[in-house]
Amino acid sequence: MITGYGRFMTIELNARLRDAGLRVTGQRLAALRALDEHPHSDTDEVHRRVREEFPGFSLQATYAVLNALTDAGILRRIEPAGSPARYERRIGDNHHHVVCTRCGAVADVDCVHGEAPCLAPSSTGGFEISTAEVTFWGLCPECQTARSSA
Ligand SMILES: [Zn+2]
Ligand SMILES: [Zn+2]
Repeated sequence: MITGYGRFMTIELNARLRDAGLRVTGQRLAALRALDEHPHSDTDEVHRRVREEFPGFSLQATYAVLNALTDAGILRRIEPAGSPARYERRIGDNHHHVVCTRCGAVADVDCVHGEAPCLAPSSTGGFEISTAEVTFWGLCPECQTARSSA
C-alpha cells in the first residue's frame, strides 16, 4: 500500500481486538501495525517501533501486549531454537518458517500441501494431528552474498 497504513486497516484492527474481547488501545494497535509492516519481529523490535508513537511505553508492557494478543489468537508466536520469540499477524494457515543460520532472518514458507497439517508423520502415537510446525534452516540471500564476496 503506497499510502502506508490506511484508515481501513485501523478499522479492521479495531474489529479484531473487540472480537477477541480486548480493549482497543493505541499501544495494542501500534504493536499490530508494527507487525503488519515488519512480520517476525521480536519483542525488542516491536518495543522500539511502539515507542516511536508512545515514548514512555516499557519493554515489560510490550511483552504484556504481545502475550495478550497471542493468547487472543490475533498474533502467532514463533520460537526458532536459539532465537528470541518472534511474532506475526499471519495466523491460522499452518505456514512454516525458514531461518537464516547466520543472521537469524526469518521468512515464511507456505504449507506444502495447502492445508494443515501439511506433513504426514510416519507414526502419530495415537494422536489426532491438527497442525505441524516446521523450521527450515539455511542462509538468507544477503548472507549468501556476504559469503561469496568474503
Ligand atoms: Zn542471513
Ligand atoms: Zn510467518
